[in-house]
Amino acid sequence: MTAPIDRRAFLSTAGAAGLTLLAGPEAASALRPVRPSCPGPRIPRKLQQAMRGHVFDRGSRGFSAVYPVFNERFDYVVPRAVARPLDTNDVRGAVRWAVAHGVPLRARSGGHSYAGYSTLTGGVVLDLLRMNRVTVDRRAGIATIGAGA
Ligand SMILES: Cc1cc2nc3c(=O)[nH]c(=O)nc-3n(C[C@H](O)[C@H](O)[C@H](O)COP(=O)(O)OP(=O)(O)OC[C@H]3O[C@@H](n4cnc5c(N)ncnc54)[C@H](O)[C@@H]3O)c2cc1C
Repeated sequence: MTAPIDRRAFLSTAGAAGLTLLAGPEAASALRPVRPSCPGPRIPRKLQQAMRGHVFDRGSRGFSAVYPVFNERFDYVVPRAVARPLDTNDVRGAVRWAVAHGVPLRARSGGHSYAGYSTLTGGVVLDLLRMNRVTVDRRAGIATIGAGA
C-alpha cells in the first residue's frame, strides 16, 4: 500500500529529484534553452504569409498611422510590425510564426493601457481592431464580444 504524501513533501521530493538529474553530465544540455516546436503546417518566412489580415511592417505605407497607442507618451516605443488579424485562424498563424521565429508578440485590444502595455520595441503588435464582431445568443443569455470592439 502506498503512503499518502502531502503537497509540500511532494514538491520537496520532486525538486530534489530534479537537482539530482541536473547534477549529472547531462546538466549542461538540460539547461540549454530549447526553441519550442510548432506542430502543424509549415511556418512561412514572412508574417504576412502566415495570416490573411494586413501586416504593417515598420517603415511601410500606413505603419506610422497604426503603431502608436492612445497615449502619445509611448510614441517612442516602435514595434517592428503591426499585424491586424481578421479571425482566430489569423491569430493562431501569427502566434505560431512568432514562436517559431523567436519574435516577441504583444496583443492590443483598445491600446488604452495607462502603462503602455499593448506596445513594445522590436516585436510584433497583434492589433485586434478588426476582430470586433459582437454576437448575442438571446436564448442562452450570452454575448460574445470581439476583443477589438
Ligand atoms: C483616459 C483613460 C481612462 C481610463 N479609465 C479607466 C477606468 O475608469 N477604469 C478602469 O478600470 N480603467 C481605466 N483606464 C485604463 C484602461 O481602460 C485599462 O487599462 C484597459 O484595460 C485597457 O484596455 P485595452 O483594451 O485598451 O487594453 P490594451 O492597452 O490594448 O492592452 C492592455 C494589456 O492587455 C493585453 N491584451 C490586450 N488585449 C488582449 C487580448 N485580447 N488577449 C490577451 N491580452 C490582451 C495587452 O497585451 C496589454 O498587456 C483608463 C485609461 C485611459 C487612457
